[in-house]
Amino acid sequence: MPASGSVMAQEGRLIYLDHMASTPLDPEVRAAMEPWLDPTQAGNPHSEHPAGWRAMRAIERAREGIAALIGGRPSEIILTSGATEANNLALFGVAQSVEQIIVSAIEHPSVLEPAAALRAGGARVTLLATDTGGRVDLGELERLLAEGPALVSIMAANNEIGTLQSLERIGALCRDHAAIFHSDATQALATEEIDVEAQGIALLSLSGHKLYGPQGIGALYVKGGVALRPLTYGGGQQGGRRAGTLPVALAAGLGAACRLAGERRAADREQLARLRDRLLAALRQGAPTLRRNGAEQEGLPGCLNVTLPGLDAADLLLDLPDLAISTGSACSSTAEAPSHVLRAIGLTAEEAHASLRFGLGRYTTAEEIDWAAERILAALRDRGLAAERAVRHPAAR
Ligand code: PMP
Repeated sequence: MPASGSVMAQEGRLIYLDHMASTPLDPEVRAAMEPWLDPTQAGNPHSEHPAGWRAMRAIERAREGIAALIGGRPSEIILTSGATEANNLALFGVAQSVEQIIVSAIEHPSVLEPAAALRAGGARVTLLATDTGGRVDLGELERLLAEGPALVSIMAANNEIGTLQSLERIGALCRDHAAIFHSDATQALATEEIDVEAQGIALLSLSGHKLYGPQGIGALYVKGGVALRPLTYGGGQQGGRRAGTLPVALAAGLGAACRLAGERRAADREQLARLRDRLLAALRQGAPTLRRNGAEQEGLPGCLNVTLPGLDAADLLLDLPDLAISTGSACSSTAEAPSHVLRAIGLTAEEAHASLRFGLGRYTTAEEIDWAAERILAALRDRGLAAERAVRHPAAR
């Protein structure tokens, strides 16, 4: 019988540990969406008749739920198709009103690529370096801010290594220099407290499917008074800032997901941190050369990114079809290039390719964690990268 015999007995399982890529729909969220999928609820929320007004009330309730989670006002919420669109809208929307754009080197591609496109169009764009834990260099930020009116885009939490930034301090620096602070909070909202007022955030992006809501919807918070140039033009919906018919069921789901996040995030945070520590301890015990990436103390509780020197992480995943884990960001996992985030925090290309990302979620159990650790260690032992299991002598009980 193979060493992983107890595991083999459970064939057909799929343990989902990729919540940074997407979270499952919470049953409560689904229940909030269902009425709007019913054919009797047909109606365009922008129509001027009772069916339209009813749909628009659902949209307004959704905006209230989103605004309450982040400390904004419902009128400051623009619904989008997701965080990618929200990030694009934030960057392209205010780029023309600043002299420079400052983005961290570890942003999601949906910030880095718009920034690159703006640079190609002549904008002055600076990439802000981070330390080895993934925290941005605040001294460098302050120096840059002194050079002229800026748009600063720094994510609240990183999607690969889980590092949390000090939003209050960044917000205060931006306030002192009259800069516009955009934060991509896509990964943070499921577990972290965000308050756009207290943290000095003028623009904030979020996404339904990272907080147990539906895929295909997100939002951009735009502080009252911030001028935003639209990306889409059409029927003038959402005050002309983002044209297009709003999806009522998806919006209702996002609103419900935000309300639920507000209720659950403290408990979820504790539970996730406990399970993450359990996973890390099990992996470390079997594979002592393992190194953890990101800031040890200041990370998302459900995120664990590790490097196992000598490992071909992509090859390891081929041996583990029953585990949904990632070698880096899902959005770039088809690319050959090593993760830009791991490179930015100082890993070599080889080390980046030897790295695994785990994303634990609200429904992850201790039993799943133990099972996953056992499966991974068995695959590492096959590669000579984990210690053989200690064989307990029958007498030594
Ligand atoms: N920003 C971050 C930090 C993300 O993790 C993601 C999703 N991987 C996005 C933006 C894009 O979100 P969406 O899938 O809603 O477009």
